[in-house]
Amino acid sequence: MNAPVTGILNIEQIREQFPVLNQQVNGKPLVYFDNAATNQKPLSVINALVDYYTGYNANIHRGIHTLAEKATRAFEDTRQSVKAFINASSEEEVIFVRGVTEAINLVAATYGRAFIKAGDEIIISGLEHHSNIVPWQMLCEEKQAVLKVIPVLENGELDLEVFKKLVSEKTKIVSVNHASNSLGTINPVKEIIEVAHSVGAVAVIDGAQAGAHLEIDVQSLNCDFYCLSAHKMYGPTGAGILYGKKELLEKMPPYQGGGEMIKEVTFEKTTYNNLPYKFEAGTPNIADVVAFNYAIRFINQLGKENIAAHEHELLSYATERISTLKDVKLIGTAKNKVGVLSFIIDGVHPFDIGQMLDARGVAVRTGHHCTQPLMEHFGIEGTVRASFAVYNTRNEVDSLVEGLDRIIKFML
Ligand code: PMP
Repeated sequence: MNAPVTGILNIEQIREQFPVLNQQVNGKPLVYFDNAATNQKPLSVINALVDYYTGYNANIHRGIHTLAEKATRAFEDTRQSVKAFINASSEEEVIFVRGVTEAINLVAATYGRAFIKAGDEIIISGLEHHSNIVPWQMLCEEKQAVLKVIPVLENGELDLEVFKKLVSEKTKIVSVNHASNSLGTINPVKEIIEVAHSVGAVAVIDGAQAGAHLEIDVQSLNCDFYCLSAHKMYGPTGAGILYGKKELLEKMPPYQGGGEMIKEVTFEKTTYNNLPYKFEAGTPNIADVVAFNYAIRFINQLGKENIAAHEHELLSYATERISTLKDVKLIGTAKNKVGVLSFIIDGVHPFDIGQMLDARGVAVRTGHHCTQPLMEHFGIEGTVRASFAVYNTRNEVDSLVEGLDRIIKFML
């Protein structure tokens, strides 16, 4: 069972680093295909959390005692690793947040509040997660600005021709995902950023589904903001980053007020701290940020291109096998995809499919995947989504397909 799929990675050995995978669910070996929601954590990440709390838990930046210095160093080491991971030009451009949701809300609440005026336009796409829709809607409501949407083509790719017509000198922000969580579509973000810049808009990239799968070079992309969640990159929940170009971060007002983000406080006036601390009010999520570093090391050690190749192989295999099943319709057939396979089966509700697969130990996600407008576009309530990570195998895909085959025979 579980033989390595691609030459370079030894999947068996990788799986040993993920104890959670080694269990039975409903009497069957667990097949975890809900990686786009959150992926599992290797021992190095789990141990980093235990080591932090058992060895050097202390509040950071302010303390001069040994534990505080050790914790501060570990926290700031992660910032250095993230800087290298995304090729930011300075660690001042890496701000720790809870995840992509908070990163986008930060941009909307600071850059947006400061620079968006009535009549300005913000462009998102029809592929966006609610966290890249709602903060912009809230901003538009507050500022009497206008939200525009890049349409989605039948195969799940964005209609770039329409996008090029949508942009104008009124466009101030363009915010799209690097890859879609519902369909897997990899968006041509470099081109989208260029178009945004051609009219003087800033470009925000939601990298939630890219972090563990796609090369990210913020300087080469030339994006203005880039958002990541650690928990979708083999790291802990509750930690993530907002990358922002220094010159933009400098001119943005702070996000929250409190400790850490200040230089000096009097009752008359407060001066704000330097970057990145200006945006990091209060005690941060120290343990999870420290452990995030180990997740980055895990990805770097395997090599993102090897991870992507393995997942791509699984995606191709799963797509081919699932397509042969009766009454299955794939939703999202873009040319370039991350390892996300969304589908529906005529006559069976996605929720029922999810429950029946769970009874066989197979964990998939069902529903709208926080992309209700996208589901509406396809005229469906939701899909069944299997999403792959580096530890998944062909045998696991076979279990999914066998399960679906049984469901179809039983239900239809
Ligand atoms: N954008 C996309 C494309 C996502 O997949 C997700 C998580 N499902 C988010 C944003 C939100 O990320 P988080 O919940 O980690 O803030």
